[in-house]
Amino acid sequence: MSSLIVGTIALDTIETPFGKKPDILGGSAVHASVSASFFSEVAILGPLGKDFPAEHLKFLESRKIDTSHLKVIDGLTFRWSGFYEFDMNQAHTRETQLNVLTQFKPQLNDKLAASEFVFLANLDPEIQLSVLSQLKKPKLVAADTMDFWIKSKREALHEVIKKVDYILINESEIRMLMETPNIPYAARQLLKMGAKAVIVKQGEHGACLFAEDWHFSAPSYPQEMFRDPTGAGDSFAGGFMGYLAQSGDVSPGNIRRALILGSVMASFNIEDFSLDRMRRLKRHEITERFEEFRKFSEFEALSIAHWV
Ligand code: AMP
Repeated sequence: MSSLIVGTIALDTIETPFGKKPDILGGSAVHASVSASFFSEVAILGPLGKDFPAEHLKFLESRKIDTSHLKVIDGLTFRWSGFYEFDMNQAHTRETQLNVLTQFKPQLNDKLAASEFVFLANLDPEIQLSVLSQLKKPKLVAADTMDFWIKSKREALHEVIKKVDYILINESEIRMLMETPNIPYAARQLLKMGAKAVIVKQGEHGACLFAEDWHFSAPSYPQEMFRDPTGAGDSFAGGFMGYLAQSGDVSPGNIRRALILGSVMASFNIEDFSLDRMRRLKRHEITERFEEFRKFSEFEALSIAHWV
């Protein structure tokens, strides 16, 4: 099965303690699609401006991502400029230039409207709602967001939350959205609004899934090669969705596996700026790191004999 990923196609200017890079390839849909492409066929949907370098499109095509639905609009590509301090869990926005995003009105053809696994990556929630209204019978729809949209379009975002199956959100954003410091409580409130599960991304501390009657904690990787966290959340979501789409199995056991793969993909993405690590990534590295995750998170049952 293939997945549909909708979101931003961006040129990012990023500063981390390891360097500053202007106008590099980024965007929520780009990071998520490239990550998902290691697992399933992917169609990417989003707007780009006439200034978007052709070499970036070629890279997406080299990953066998279906770029035929990308919309070229007369104007400049979406741009985000941000920086990270020593605590690289927290992105600080310097500037968001929406540019062609303000003119983007997604039109799904029959094939896209029939998509079964859909990821509404971080994007204007009104556009997310428009895509949702055009989907015919999706098997699983997940959505992501960020502080920019929580502050500017809270009501539309609430509508998105009511309509999708899974919410992916990072820990500072779920606190902001639900106006509480307590993450399990905030997740419970989101479940009450209609989500089937809430996945809270906790940067270098992993991710936690909250559903009605179960939860699961995915560890993070003790990554010492950590240069740029941009796109970690989208790579996580892409790995998660891509694997679910490829297997077609949304049982809790498989969802746990998909969450670990999400952590695996995020752990690779942060090793270099933009998508540079993903360009070099090989499938065997993914399976090897998955096994490492399995080993370092395994533990034995409590033995009363050793305790007394
Ligand atoms: P993350 O995975 O959360 O680190 O997302 C990083 C990507 O989100 C960057 O490559 C940005 O281009 C993109 N981005 C930044 N701000 C926004 C926004 N307001 N809406 C959609 N995408 C954004």
